[in-house]
Amino acid sequence: MSGTRVTVRVPAKVNLHLSVGPVRKDGFHELVTVYHAISLYDEVVVEPAERISVTLTGEGADQLPIDDDNLAVRAVRAVAALLGREPEVAISVRKGIPVAGGLAGGSADAAAAIIAADAMWGGELDRITLEGLAAGIGSDVAFLLHGGSALGTGRGEAISPVLGTGDYHWVLAVADIGMSTPKVYAELDLMRDAGPVPRAGEPDGVLSALRAGDVPALGTVLANDLQAAALRLRPQLRQVLDAGRELGAAGAIVSGSGPTVAILARSAEDSVRIASSLSGMDVCRTVRRARGPVHGARIVPDDGG
Ligand code: C5P
Repeated sequence: MSGTRVTVRVPAKVNLHLSVGPVRKDGFHELVTVYHAISLYDEVVVEPAERISVTLTGEGADQLPIDDDNLAVRAVRAVAALLGREPEVAISVRKGIPVAGGLAGGSADAAAAIIAADAMWGGELDRITLEGLAAGIGSDVAFLLHGGSALGTGRGEAISPVLGTGDYHWVLAVADIGMSTPKVYAELDLMRDAGPVPRAGEPDGVLSALRAGDVPALGTVLANDLQAAALRLRPQLRQVLDAGRELGAAGAIVSGSGPTVAILARSAEDSVRIASSLSGMDVCRTVRRARGPVHGARIVPDDGG
């Protein structure tokens, strides 16, 4: 496969549980999180070229950097450095994951680019090396190699699989304007400096709901320490959370640092009903449906596009 064009499909994530600890010396927060990969996908294509470049298509693509700030570019450079290659690669990203939504779209592109570049160059890097590369690029990247449902610790990059059963049907309420992850973390730090803020605590409830495949139980234990901070910065998100509950969802939570709200439906049919009602409510820009858990970044047949 060396030197040929490779396409990788990669999912978005939601955090079923996100417990934020203290800030570390490196500026990141200590986390305990339960990641869950959902069926909203980006596709990343890499092929040999004279020099490194990235082009992005799809909704929100024009908001993303095309220089070394682009996480897919960083990922390809990191794989090239490890394999002793020049990063002479054209990267194309087709965005299906909403941008700046708390769904890890940028990290997903990095995970996909790692898998794609390794395959293109025939690197056959092992899992541990790939995860090490991923961790160097962003906190969520290692999870997006992995997919499924998984526990994340450290700054989120240390992944261990979670035993789970069942399918979960989600409705994602995507906001007009994205949010900056560092600003949401900083807001949480400010809130905690000012006084006690309720904490998500341990992920045990989420882990046992996943083991049992119990949708109503999972709905009641969804927890995210960043939600309070996201609501302070964007109070109108409260309306979306309330709408999810009023529509009879099993649960609703801000995804990661927001502003996407992830609403857990009781069944596939229920997700259709919730999505269509929510679309008529004018509380968010777009409504998408997705199921989880799904696989992490994977090579797919090239469609020639
Ligand atoms: O690792 P990633 O690039 O996704 O992180 C984006 C930003 O989110 C970091 O620069 C940091 O401000 C914040 N963050 C954090 N603690 C984490 C993960 C992210 O403070 N564990």
